[in-house]
Parts: sequence; C-alpha cells; structure tokens
Amino acid sequence: MSQQLYLIALGSNQRHELAGHPRKIIEQAIEALEMPDVDVFAQSSIIESAAIGASRRRYANAVAVIASDLDPPALLHRLQSVETHFGRRRIGQRWRARTLDLDILLWSGGIWSGECPALAIPHAAMRERNFVLGPATEIAHDWVDPLTNLTIRQLFHRLNRPKPLDRLQSPH
Ligand code: ATP
Ligand code: MG
Ligand code: MG
Repeated sequence: MSQQLYLIALGSNQRHELAGHPRKIIEQAIEALEMPDVDVFAQSSIIESAAIGASRRRYANAVAVIASDLDPPALLHRLQSVETHFGRRRIGQRWRARTLDLDILLWSGGIWSGECPALAIPHAAMRERNFVLGPATEIAHDWVDPLTNLTIRQLFHRLNRPKPLDRLQSPH
C-alpha cells in the first residue's frame, strides 16, 4: 500500500512502573510510534482532563498525524503492540484504567469498516470527545470527517456551541 496518513489518538490514565505518569507515557508513546515504516508528522500538545467511565482517574491525551505504508488493520495491530509494550492489559471492562490507549481516528483513505480485526474508521466516538477534538484542532483542523463532511474545526465548534437550554437561561 502506498503512503497513508492517519490521525491517531493517544490516551493514558494509569501510571506505568517504568514509563511513569500518564503525561510521560504519552510523550514516550509518541517516540515509540516512530519506526522504520511509520513517520510521526505532527503531534499536538498533551492535555489533561477528567476521566469518563468507572475508573475516575485523570487522563492525559494527545493526537498525532502519522504517515505509513501500513493498511488500517496492520496499523491497528502495530498500535496494539505499542499498547502492550507500555503495559496495557486487554482484560475487563472498556474505559477501565489503562496505561496507554491508541486509537485510529481518521485515515486519508476515508472510511474503513471491518470485523476481523474489529475496526471502524472514522473512530465512532471522536465527534463527542473534546479530549480528542481539542488537540486535533491544533494539528489537523481542516481534515474532513468523511461521515459528516465536517472538518475537525467544525466538529469541535459543534460539540462546544451553547445548547438551546443555555441560551434560554442566559440574560438578554
Ligand atoms: P473507545 O473505542 O471508546 O475509545 P477503547 O479505546 O478503550 O474505547 P479498546 O479496548 O482500546 O477500546 O478497543 C476495543 C476494540 O475497539 C479493539 O479491539 C479494536 O479492535 C476496536 N476498534 C474499532 N475501531 C477502532 C479504531 N478506530 N481504533 C482503535 N480500535 C478500534
Ligand atoms: Mg479509546
Ligand atoms: Mg482503544
């Protein structure tokens, strides 16, 4: 496959014995993504935010644009091996505490939908997540989501615009 571009989400909310705190894990994971067949083109700043789900810890999150010849399933496999390298254990519930989560958000090829491995691009939850869209506006604001035809910047504004109820309650 010729050179593909991917937007990747990185998240951590659990300390790793060697790699350290979530922010440090993200920094090292971005370095670890750089491989002979994977180039890290751009990385966002690392933000920290409140966790969702049962774990109630703080998250460190960032996004990166990478270029690679790998197709989406091969890249997912590679990302999972980096997660494992940073101590991720694939057991128990989704959203539990984890040292590292690497998700594929967008792909220059557009839409991917597969069962084996289970893989959906664009990432199903990216439009509802400020900890993804915020960092993504820094390095990929004009990248278009092929399912909504909205740019990252538009998705971010859509998620953060005042709700009708907020407008009703605000003074005139
Ligand atoms: P969320 O998907 O809500 O961010 P999560 O990242 O914690 O949750 P994981 O446990 O990391 O979920 O992954 C669950 C499964 O999701 C993986 O086995 C993988 O096959 C599948 N998956 C589907 N689409 C994607 C994607 N775009 N990027 C990464 N994994 C995906
Ligand atoms: Mg995830
Ligand atoms: Mg994941």
